[in-house]
Amino acid sequence: MRVKAIRCLMCYETIFSRALDDFKRCSCGNITIDGGLNNTKISFMHKEYYEYINLYVESSKKKLYQDWKNHQDNFGTVRT
Ligand SMILES: [Zn+2]
Repeated sequence: MRVKAIRCLMCYETIFSRALDDFKRCSCGNITIDGGLNNTKISFMHKEYYEYINLYVESSKKKLYQDWKNHQDNFGTVRT
């Protein structure tokens, strides 16, 4: 499935929010994302250093939720 993700152009990490309360921050702290797959909210410190990515993940909505809920963290952060 495709998810709305953002990529930090300072640390080149791509992050997306797997569930409503899944709050993620890139490793350098420039960008954050939360709100899940449908109510995605982002924030950033340097607006010229991030971009939207239409990311394909080998998973389903239910599996992403479980990944977050069970702290498996196989998804949500992609290093590029
Ligand atoms: Zn970063």
